[in-house]
Amino acid sequence: MNLKQYQPRTDLLANRVILVTGAGDGIGKSAALTYARHGATVVLHGRTISKLEAVYDQIEQAGGAKPAILPLHLASTSELEYSQLVTTLQNQFGRLDGILHNAGILGHRIALEQYDVQTWDEVMNVNLRAPFLLTQSLLPLLKQSQDASVIFTSSGVGRTARAEWGAYSVSKFGVEALSTIFAAEFASNPAIRFNCINPGATRTSMRADAYPQENPQTVATPDSIMPAYLYLMGPDSRGVSGESVDAQQP
Ligand code: NAP
Repeated sequence: MNLKQYQPRTDLLANRVILVTGAGDGIGKSAALTYARHGATVVLHGRTISKLEAVYDQIEQAGGAKPAILPLHLASTSELEYSQLVTTLQNQFGRLDGILHNAGILGHRIALEQYDVQTWDEVMNVNLRAPFLLTQSLLPLLKQSQDASVIFTSSGVGRTARAEWGAYSVSKFGVEALSTIFAAEFASNPAIRFNCINPGATRTSMRADAYPQENPQTVATPDSIMPAYLYLMGPDSRGVSGESVDAQQP
């Protein structure tokens, strides 16, 4: 698929219920607003309620479908909290048509020799354990959809390991594997697909933390990479599963 040529319909996601994790900032915020603009009812997950409320207001002001707010700290979520989350979404919507696993943290940009174990565990919990457990818990709701799409967020260092990317790189390799395994295990069920997206260098606070010397104006904005997020979430990618897609293509 040549994403530069991709022209999503304005009602691409009409009547779809889509959960976006880390929807309060950066790429997740842009994805939540974009999905709502294309007709979706968006479940806004994050850990900072004020940021989620601001996105909620923006969607309402733009005339989008009424979103929902789902606060949850992914570094320390218990299995009980996951099962309560499923009950909440079950009662409110009865099904789920998509998940964008976007929330993530960078951890340290230092050598493994010095890497602090507590940070390692936190990065693994947010970037890898949470997408696994959220997906596993929400499968019953995804199975209620006629066309469900699960998108995991990877990174360039999730495909090629690089020095001083530590737990972040290892977690993103894990995310690529997680997506591939789910896709293989659901190969006989074309109604649910699983893919990875690599946003590429994108102008957010995480990017600024990772590359403090970089001029942010030289980096793509979150809005500019949304065609890939729409393509993988909407019906145009039906039948595509187990792929790892670059949001920024040459
Ligand atoms: P960001 O601006 O830092 O946003 C990350 C989001 O994740 C925020 O909304 C944050 O919530 C949320 N989050 C972090 N820890 C959380 C936790 N423990 N529980 C719940 N939510 C949590 O980062 P971004 O650049 O948009 O990154 C989005 C995704 O793209 C990440 O998976 C990242 O690894 C990936 N990525 C980004 C780039 C890039 O260049 N930006 C490149 C490759 C991959 P708060 O706002 O409340 O902190």
